[in-house]
Amino acid sequence: MIEPTTDATGLLTQIARGVVALSEHSDRGGSTPPPYPHETQSALDQLVLWALRENRIPPTGVPDLVYWCTGWTLARWAAMGIGGITEPTQRLVHGVARSPSRACMEITGQAEFADRLFATTVAELDAAGVARARSFLQRNVVMSNTGHRDLMNFDPRSIAVVKAVRHLYEPVPTRLISAGEIALCPTCRLPALAAELPEHGTIWCEAEVCPRDKPVTDSPRATDVILLHRALRLFLALPGLVEQSCLERLRDTGTLLSQRATGTYTGLLDGTDVVFRFYDRTCATLLAGQVVRDQVTVAVLPANTLDHGFRRAFENSLPEDTEISLLSDEELVLRKTTKEKADAKR
Ligand SMILES: [Zn+2]
Repeated sequence: MIEPTTDATGLLTQIARGVVALSEHSDRGGSTPPPYPHETQSALDQLVLWALRENRIPPTGVPDLVYWCTGWTLARWAAMGIGGITEPTQRLVHGVARSPSRACMEITGQAEFADRLFATTVAELDAAGVARARSFLQRNVVMSNTGHRDLMNFDPRSIAVVKAVRHLYEPVPTRLISAGEIALCPTCRLPALAAELPEHGTIWCEAEVCPRDKPVTDSPRATDVILLHRALRLFLALPGLVEQSCLERLRDTGTLLSQRATGTYTGLLDGTDVVFRFYDRTCATLLAGQVVRDQVTVAVLPANTLDHGFRRAFENSLPEDTEISLLSDEELVLRKTTKEKADAKR
């Protein structure tokens, strides 16, 4: 007997989990289904029940479910009464890559999972080791099968770090391999699918939003490298791009932020003590939930993410009486430097 999921948010989360489970099954080299992973079958069952209850035509099977997830935007699911996320462009499955989209990963709570995975991994390291491990993972989405030995010879301080994080890397899944190689996006450095001629650029990358016309210049042999866990690629390495570039620009202007705990920084902004964290997300409503849990007062995102719709959805999703500023990296650097220049003139 299947117990129906009554809450609409829960149903979208279950469908997203079903999509991720199917992709993980295939990434681990699992046999071609059926039988489908439990989460996938359960998502289908729940959606069929929902459709019957609502007098709608249900999906005919898992392939049909994946077809819906590839075609339907989150706003369309919401209009059907499922999920309540009115994001007008994001879909659960990316049509080009045929894998869970960033939005899908956010909906399944993979960002929180990435935080927990990292915290468990570095639990035995001291504060300097934690910072080094974080920086290592942000800079090394792929690691050579043997190269970490060279790295350890080159920088003996990294031995403890590399040993601690080694288990977070896994063999490259087949879906990311073309002609024996894994292409890395020239912009975000995450896995990509190269155009037929790699000099013509990419047709997709995990960040989803990078320019497509930059030639692929880095495509190691898939058997020579291991790949960082997908949750850490999206929720540690990807925001690491805006984090590192912002910190460097602030450092150049003489502004130093102190790293308070994993991923958050403290500093002065317009004369007020603030707690920052750098994010890179597609779903503003889900981000609002996380910044509250992270207890930050300023969330910093790449400028190209922060359009009017994103800001409005973020503000509408914050609990009442919560004041959290959403700043782009450009705005943060500008506000810090303008304030300091004004102080210097006094
Ligand atoms: Zn990219």
